[in-house]
Amino acid sequence: MLMPPFELHHPTSVEEAVSMAAKLMTAGEAFDWVAGGTDVLPNYKWRINPKPHVISLASIEEAHSTSSNEIGCMVTLDTLTTDPSIHPLISEAASKVASSLIRKSATLGGNLCLDTRCFWYNQGEDWRRSIDWCHKADCGTGADCRVIPNQNTLCVATYQGDLAPNLMVLGASVMLIGPHGERTIPLNEFYQLDGMTKNVLEEGEFLLKVLLPDDAGKRIGSYQKLRVRESWDFPEAGIAASWIPGDVASLTIASTALESIPRQHDEEVTNHLELNNNSFDINSLASELYDVIKPVNNTALPPRYRRTMIKTLTRRAMKALMQEE
Ligand SMILES: Cc1cc2nc3c(=O)[nH]c(=O)nc-3n(C[C@H](O)[C@H](O)[C@H](O)COP(=O)(O)OP(=O)(O)OC[C@H]3O[C@@H](n4cnc5c(N)ncnc54)[C@H](O)[C@@H]3O)c2cc1C
Ligand code: SF4
Repeated sequence: MLMPPFELHHPTSVEEAVSMAAKLMTAGEAFDWVAGGTDVLPNYKWRINPKPHVISLASIEEAHSTSSNEIGCMVTLDTLTTDPSIHPLISEAASKVASSLIRKSATLGGNLCLDTRCFWYNQGEDWRRSIDWCHKADCGTGADCRVIPNQNTLCVATYQGDLAPNLMVLGASVMLIGPHGERTIPLNEFYQLDGMTKNVLEEGEFLLKVLLPDDAGKRIGSYQKLRVRESWDFPEAGIAASWIPGDVASLTIASTALESIPRQHDEEVTNHLELNNNSFDINSLASELYDVIKPVNNTALPPRYRRTMIKTLTRRAMKALMQEE
């Protein structure tokens, strides 16, 4: 498949990237950010919302820095699996993304900003035309959503990134920067429950780095992923859990690949610990998560199976935490 033509821009500093974005916005020119390109470029080849301009973040030195509590958006997943300063849970999650070849190019920022996926959407152009498109790429036809029919206001495409739930359970924040300045927000407030909007990034804004709190280093964690082929597939369901050993109240759990956003389950965990006098019962905790997560039918495996696996993955994650304690 041929790549559609676009103009590639290579800013060498954050300031240059932001002013380039502002200029394109003023000129009314659409653009995408590109990092490793392992998701956005295959999508372009499938004519999935290609833009005339692409701004690469690859030459921005600041975006490549790593330490135990700050990780630049351009750090590759391969580096996350090998750098000793990276938290073991992040390394474990990164090692489960795609294949070793893809991890050499794929980045942290691209993983967190990954487009949502749906089997009515992640298809070639002719295939999508044959079903008269869908709401997320309606090509001006006003097409309906194919998953929740008879409506074209909501997109329930699934977020299938692996790193987000793991960073959430470690308490990560993200630094965003754009023409209106810089802001830092908790990662669990970054995503928006809409398969098209996806996250709170404003036009011209990009994710510069991930910040981890001081106590992240005291935490241990586990990530359990369901996928079709262990060799490289996207998650069909994922549960991450973490705590500071000896401190049950520090337990955090997050899920991915089950909704349009990765979700941190603070309310469910807090209610569970309160009802159980600050202790937990793995089976009932797993059932409580099962009750609140409702995947839809738009990925490779049936939603009923993916939902049932929430219990299994939660049990496995909790058992792994207890064994490591
Ligand atoms: C065969 C295959 C298997 C895969 N399996 C998995 C998997 O198991 N798990 C998984 O999580 N992913 C998987 N992926 C998806 C992808 O490879 C990874 O998520 C990767 O980390 C994306 O990073 P990237 O740098 O290549 O992103 P890019 O493709 O460069 O960008 C992805 C999106 O993020 C935006 N973006 C990139 N960086 C930033 C930034 N700093 N700020 C704002 N927006 C930004 C881009 O505009 C684009 O919309 C797979 C891909 C393939 C092709
Ligand atoms: S959820 Fe609906 S609108 Fe969104 S990509 Fe799938 S079919 Fe299209």
